Amino acid sequence: MTPRKTVVPPRTALVIGAGMTGLATAWFLQEAGVEVTVVDRRQVAAGASWGNAGWLSPALAVPLPEPGALRLGLRTLLSSASPLYIPPRADPRLARFLLSFSRNCTPRRWQVAMSALAPLNRQALAAYDELARGGVAEPTRASDPCLIAFTTEAARQPFVHELEAVRAAGQCVDYDLLSGAEARDQEPALSERTGAAVRLHGQRFLNPGAYVAALADAVRERGGKVVEGLRVTRVQDHGSEVAVLGSDGTDLRADVAVLANGAWLNRLAAPFGVRAAVQSGRGYSFTLPAGGLPTGPTYFAAQRVVCTPLGADRVRVAGMMEFTAPDRPADPRRVQAVIDAARPMLPGADFSRRSDEWAGPRPCTADGLPLVGPTRSPRVHVCGGHGMWGIALGPLSGKLLAESIVTGRSAAELTPLHPLR
Ligand SMILES: Cc1cc2nc3c(=O)[nH]c(=O)nc-3n(C[C@H](O)[C@H](O)[C@H](O)COP(=O)(O)OP(=O)(O)OC[C@H]3O[C@@H](n4cnc5c(N)ncnc54)[C@H](O)[C@@H]3O)c2cc1C
Repeated sequence: MTPRKTVVPPRTALVIGAGMTGLATAWFLQEAGVEVTVVDRRQVAAGASWGNAGWLSPALAVPLPEPGALRLGLRTLLSSASPLYIPPRADPRLARFLLSFSRNCTPRRWQVAMSALAPLNRQALAAYDELARGGVAEPTRASDPCLIAFTTEAARQPFVHELEAVRAAGQCVDYDLLSGAEARDQEPALSERTGAAVRLHGQRFLNPGAYVAALADAVRERGGKVVEGLRVTRVQDHGSEVAVLGSDGTDLRADVAVLANGAWLNRLAAPFGVRAAVQSGRGYSFTLPAGGLPTGPTYFAAQRVVCTPLGADRVRVAGMMEFTAPDRPADPRRVQAVIDAARPMLPGADFSRRSDEWAGPRPCTADGLPLVGPTRSPRVHVCGGHGMWGIALGPLSGKLLAESIVTGRSAAELTPLHPLR
């Protein structure tokens, strides 16, 4: 723990954003006796926290900027069928983000970011256990089996190297290698194209929409307020309190504010010295009846398509990373790209029966690390920028941030996540 100025613990907090990170921060602030109000411009889980894949997979939570990303090349990135897509339009903000992102795609920077993520990954599931003991009703489930499927052993090799690098960074990573036939024995829904797989142990998953709704219920049951339909336009530090101003003229006051508004973070955070860009990396998902689909969480790594069971009779299929503004209308071609990528791997799936088509913005940072901690104002804090892993890491980030707000001492794990870096 690094000492900071003596702090009087806040009595009240306003949290902006009712996604996983905002609600988790609110819940852990309540643990310390802080009265919380969470506000959202739409409703609970209106951003990335609803239709995502719900994997709680510390073994896979690695920095997004990786050396391999650059090898994809510009042509792939501009193809609308590519799993990583950049719509071709002049956007200086996106150009700056991509330049900074590409500078982080070196083996050395990946290792530095990984060594910052490893201590978080080690504690991520324990934060979920704390929420469960504290009464959050929706369960997390063991991912058993958790398969990562590949067409060939050669295609699996870079992934295995990455798992070893995660292990070298100090995480416990337990896995075994399966042949294609062994993988198909385990998951008969996989096609003959599955030529190799990795079976991961010790991971979990959840139904993200149901979980975040249960977390909001828990915050309310403990006396917190969740205000939906209030778009915050500005946050002001008035010296002894903060003002959170809404587009309808609402003026809310509290001792501290937490900005947890996902891919929309920059506008509210910039006045408090936060310069790190949070770029929306939009993903898509839909739900299918379970027939012909894997029974456990399954990832087709080359296709970048994930399948996650939602209860006994439905499976969510998710994929795509589209660097575009979070509020742009969803593009149906992206859904088709996910289907086209998944179909050869899942011959029994009936994609015509899909429902709950969804697009949501991952809040991505250029260095692949979340932004969790204080700003230039001692009364305004940030919890965001978790990119691909805000569901797995959100509860832990909320816990560490709440502790640092209340005690004035920041856990060592938060040092590399400082929002003013
Ligand atoms: C397809 C896909 C699959 C994914 N799979 C996984 C996975 O398997 N595991 C994992 O860990 N992560 C996964 N993620 C990433 C994860 O979904 C995100 O990292 C996480 O949901 C971010 O949570 P958040 O609370 O920071 O942001 P959000 O959930 O986006 O919440 C931000 C909230 O702020 C609100 N808001 C915005 N601006 C304002 C304003 N001005 N005033 C008031 N409210 C405002 C929004 O309405 C929104 O509800 C996936 C993402 C996608 C898209």
